[in-house]
Amino acid sequence: MTASSRLDLRDRAKCFGALEARRFDVVVIGGGVTGAGIARDAALRGLSVALVEAQDFASGTSSRSSKMIHGGLRYLAQGHVKLVREAASERQVLRRIAPHLAQPQRYLIPAKSARSLAAMRAGLWLYEKLGNVPRDERHEVLDLVELGRREPAMRTDGLRGAAEYTEFLTDDARLVLANARSAQAAGATLASYAEADGLLLEGGRVAGVTVRSTLPGDERQARVLARLVVSAAGVWVDHVRALEAGQRDSRLTLSRGIHVVVARDRLPVRYTVVLPTRDGRMAFAVPHGRFTYVGTTDVFHDRADYWPAFERADVDYLLDAVQARLVAPPIADADIVALWSGIRPLVSEPGKKPGEVSRKDEIWTSPAGLVSIAGGKLSAYRAMAEHVVDLCVRRLGDATRPCTTATGPLVGGERVLGAGEVRRLCADADAARRLAALYGDEAPGISAGGGDVAAEARHAVLSEGALTLEDYWVRRSARAWFDERAGLDSLEPAAQAMAPLLGWNDAEIARQVAACRALERDSRRPLQKTGS
Ligand SMILES: Cc1cc2nc3c(=O)[nH]c(=O)nc-3n(C[C@H](O)[C@H](O)[C@H](O)COP(=O)(O)OP(=O)(O)OC[C@H]3O[C@@H](n4cnc5c(N)ncnc54)[C@H](O)[C@@H]3O)c2cc1C
Repeated sequence: MTASSRLDLRDRAKCFGALEARRFDVVVIGGGVTGAGIARDAALRGLSVALVEAQDFASGTSSRSSKMIHGGLRYLAQGHVKLVREAASERQVLRRIAPHLAQPQRYLIPAKSARSLAAMRAGLWLYEKLGNVPRDERHEVLDLVELGRREPAMRTDGLRGAAEYTEFLTDDARLVLANARSAQAAGATLASYAEADGLLLEGGRVAGVTVRSTLPGDERQARVLARLVVSAAGVWVDHVRALEAGQRDSRLTLSRGIHVVVARDRLPVRYTVVLPTRDGRMAFAVPHGRFTYVGTTDVFHDRADYWPAFERADVDYLLDAVQARLVAPPIADADIVALWSGIRPLVSEPGKKPGEVSRKDEIWTSPAGLVSIAGGKLSAYRAMAEHVVDLCVRRLGDATRPCTTATGPLVGGERVLGAGEVRRLCADADAARRLAALYGDEAPGISAGGGDVAAEARHAVLSEGALTLEDYWVRRSARAWFDERAGLDSLEPAAQAMAPLLGWNDAEIARQVAACRALERDSRRPLQKTGS
């Protein structure tokens, strides 16, 4: 780790001071994957950039996805060839710049007839061609005997066979962090818990934003001047557009998706298995270390929330899909380790059902010059960011360096750890694999610091910009989703390790722990309604 890739945001006066110290070329609103990707690209091209995030980096949709880096096979069936080509090729890019955040994963799609197997073969052939898939990772078509041998958890009754192909899994929040830290290393100024709450105008043109701190007890404000303002505020894009007079119309449709996590031995899939749902969609059961997660749903949601409420019916919908296609005793509520819910910022297409709305991205420029970007997929974030920065460069009219985000490594992705190195990270093989997948080439540093919750929590504060316990538990360590009892046992040791670094007294430690426990309790609330 270099000193410049260390993201330490504890000094709030310094942070807000840096926002006011100059006129930036670009200020980016929103530190999800889109905004962090834009900030990195713009900074690498030599533009001066500020990135302001209202909460923690990735606290919106970018920590609630299905964590798949995929080309969107189903969008091919809907005819979106351009979208698929871009996302499918981006898989190989991410693998090159952050191998730990693009773990290859074999998928299985069941087929009920020879005809659908033939259609899958043709579709996958095109998909792999569009995505430049290497020969040894191309699809295979399996008959029932082979399917039963490879995935004993799959029910084969009523099937003719399955297609097996490769996609990639990531940790979405850490992908955002890697981009944010790489942006800072390239010279960007970053602030979290800094909400843009107003637009500054000069001669009727947007010339910056006002920012206020959202950390409890911190009343700080800043005026951030910039030649261009880009909003990558995800499901809040319409709110930011509405800061400009006369821009109150809505461009987005919001759709909710939830995920359910169980112990791997309750749902022992070897592959990511595609599960047909009762309404003709596809859900997935995804093996993830000692856990399996199942997702996702796609229902309209009427407001932008950080912790979107969901219904008992959302959970039952996923569990029904599991029962229909996998050999597993019914999953009881007590088997559910964790649940998460997120909202898709989809570009409005009135009259369509949630699953039919295109996942394309769109860029709008307002009359006063505010640039907004929304829609798209985590998988294609880098290409989206490149398009936005191309536009910024055209608008600014400056000579800049070319885009290098497809080749330069992200923080943690400089090199791939060897198998022996991964083994030496930790006595427990699963824990060692987890460290390598989350931290990449920074994992040996965590291991040398003790390799435990306290070491991770200290690293989160000193190098990854964490300012609250939730920042560590949900978005730096993923323990909120992938740990026994939703990682509740890690809260106290993590808070104790963070306290001296963040100046917390006993009352503050208790407040931080209680806030995380409340989030966990609330996430399980829908289960209390007529639970199994
Ligand atoms: C259930 C679900 C599953 C998905 N699965 C996948 C998948 O497997 N693969 C895939 O490729 N894509 C997937 N997606 C889509 C993907 O997650 C999103 O496209 C992507 O995360 C959107 O990122 P974003 O940066 O645009 O938005 P966000 O991550 O929401 O970021 C916007 C940020 O802006 C900040 N913000 C808002 N207002 C302000 C303000 N006034 N000032 C400062 N900051 C502000 C917010 O706090 C937030 O952090 C999924 C989405 C969902 C909901």
